[in-house]
Amino acid sequence: MKKMIYGILIFFMSLGLYGCAEQNQTNINTLNEDYVFEGGFSWTNSYSDKGVIRACEEGRKMGVCFYYNPETEVQVPLCTKINCEHQGYSFSDTAPSCDACFGESVLCARIYGNYIYYVSNMSEDGLFKKHIYRANLDGTNRKLLGTMDEAQELVCGIYEGDYLVYTYKKLTTANGEALKKTQAGIYIYDIKNNVMNHFSLEEQYELTVFQATIVDNEVYYFTAYMTEDLTDKSYEEIVELTSENYLETIRKIELWKYDLKSKQTEKIKIMDFVNGKKMLGFSHAVWEEDGRVYVMDLLEHRLDYFEHNLDINDHYLTMAGNGIVVNDKKSFFFWSYSDKKLIKIAETTDGKIMVPIMVGNKWIYARGFETMDVSKIYCLSKDKFMRGEFEWIELPEVE
Ligand SMILES: [Zn+2]
Repeated sequence: MKKMIYGILIFFMSLGLYGCAEQNQTNINTLNEDYVFEGGFSWTNSYSDKGVIRACEEGRKMGVCFYYNPETEVQVPLCTKINCEHQGYSFSDTAPSCDACFGESVLCARIYGNYIYYVSNMSEDGLFKKHIYRANLDGTNRKLLGTMDEAQELVCGIYEGDYLVYTYKKLTTANGEALKKTQAGIYIYDIKNNVMNHFSLEEQYELTVFQATIVDNEVYYFTAYMTEDLTDKSYEEIVELTSENYLETIRKIELWKYDLKSKQTEKIKIMDFVNGKKMLGFSHAVWEEDGRVYVMDLLEHRLDYFEHNLDINDHYLTMAGNGIVVNDKKSFFFWSYSDKKLIKIAETTDGKIMVPIMVGNKWIYARGFETMDVSKIYCLSKDKFMRGEFEWIELPEVE
């Protein structure tokens, strides 16, 4: 079972389905700091034009949150305590005194208004519940906002306007027995009204809600699932089915909409699995089908598309707020929502694979792969990026 999930994960990753949770800019009445979470690789990192928030995932600073400022290239723990050594969570110290340590595992930390919001486990719950917290910017005055009882595994976190949105899936019962069909759903925390909404989806084999976004009280989300149960198959059998393209015929990807007011769901589109790139955010849904990149404006309900000549299996799409970046190892293109034109921005020379995580108004963040397993996080000013000057700055480690 584990092997199969791993196989499917690799399969997904090879299709570029790991990008997650872009921010939306529709709510202009709020202090909207656009944070992007990087699902798939690390749930602890969030990115914005103001910087990066990262939590240390292991070692003596486990659970300590850091803030990286791209302007100064300085990284500091989110703690203002004098003489604090910023010791993290450990089995011998489950409640460290450092104000930047938010528990054993910290997910989706984000600064919004005068607070930092984050998700954390509580050890007495085991792994099966997730809790949403709010703290002052210096890490003090922590408050539990809500508990996500069903959120065994977070898939995606999106913070938009007044909402915190988390998609999850559930693979086992409370006793740890594997569920035949996967359960999944979405939690939405309304910051302004201090209300938690939750809705669950119809159970399916290998179900996941891999992206979501909120536009005008409507939650849009992509689901993926299998129409057949493959849990008894071995890893080798799965690999064989993959090579025969059989998985493509039984895997469904759908775009859905949930209305927060009427609590109604509506299926908007069923998609071809062959090209795995699907994204939501910045009031747009984007997917690739038959060599075309489709762009649906969720506010104006309009559908456009563009084409590019990059290798079908070897390119990346990233949402950039005002458009979409398409790149492979060499070339970067930009398609703008306003001009609806694909322009080439630049070519790189060193051939390193740079996968953009977020393209903000001022800063670009990317994950640079040295090998398929080893990657580092980089940033670059947007001005330089648009001029094709790829002088990426490597972010310091969190340790
Ligand atoms: Zn500290």
